[in-house]
Amino acid sequence: MKLYEKAPAKINLMLDVLHKRPDGYHEVEMIMTMVDLADRLTISELAGDTIKISSQAGYIPLDEKNLAYQAAKKVKEKYHIRHGVHIHIDKKIPVAAGLAGGSSDAAAALRGLDRLWNLHIPHEDMMELGASIGSDVPFCITGGTALATGRGEILTPLQSPPDCWVILAKPPINVSTANVYGRLQADRIAHHPSAANMRAALEQHSFERICSELGNVLEDVTLSHYPEVRQLKQAMIQLGADGVLMSGSGPTVFGLVSKESKVARIYNGLRGFCHEVYAVRMLT
Ligand code: ATP
Repeated sequence: MKLYEKAPAKINLMLDVLHKRPDGYHEVEMIMTMVDLADRLTISELAGDTIKISSQAGYIPLDEKNLAYQAAKKVKEKYHIRHGVHIHIDKKIPVAAGLAGGSSDAAAALRGLDRLWNLHIPHEDMMELGASIGSDVPFCITGGTALATGRGEILTPLQSPPDCWVILAKPPINVSTANVYGRLQADRIAHHPSAANMRAALEQHSFERICSELGNVLEDVTLSHYPEVRQLKQAMIQLGADGVLMSGSGPTVFGLVSKESKVARIYNGLRGFCHEVYAVRMLT
């Protein structure tokens, strides 16, 4: 048997860090949503009792460091599965980009293995398995639009944003999420974006208000170390995107655009700055 799962990228419409917890994690408030830029997983049975990961992308780990591998290992252990599995990842989401590509692959692997082995994993167990792999995995399991609190694993579903274009641009640098959080001085954040205001904007289904409430406290950290990300953000604003923000810990910058007539100009203008530019739809 062979089956497919789509693993879409996430963007943060807002990201706030409240404080650092005694267990080392940061207490966050994030509003996340999904965009139509996705990896595609092909999951098939394999003889023996092994987990094989393959990908056309030469730059991701194919061993136990791969989050999809970790998902398969955890499912096999928890449900005493003695079969082998081959997960092929057709990688489309840029890596180490702030788009939760690895987490989304892990979530897709969990969903796919549940189907492949007919496990009927209860939702809570699926979320627990996901959280044990990474803080963003539970959101990638549920998808849609959600407020994430705690270390990112406590989710409240929210109204999705109105349909619009999302232009994503990733400069040719890889940013480690752990480094950015390490550099953040949580007690010195000058301006906290408001989850309540973004939530209200989503409930009103107001594209304009969503654009004006975008905010990410990690932006200052990444922008101060990587001037190219700041330039990219400025370029996207100048080219006419309606709302612009860095996603997660970066370096990907996204622009929300309501008018299709603006998309080609912004896309082409950004290609002058970096070659990884995508124009996709919001998943609503
Ligand atoms: P987040 O927004 O959750 O911090 P990210 O988009 O910044 O995620 P990922 O693309 O998930 O980062 O990759 C981060 C690291 O995880 C990479 O350096 C890579 O080595 C490792 N990794 C593990 N599994 C995967 C996978 N399936 N796809 C991509 N990277 C993976």
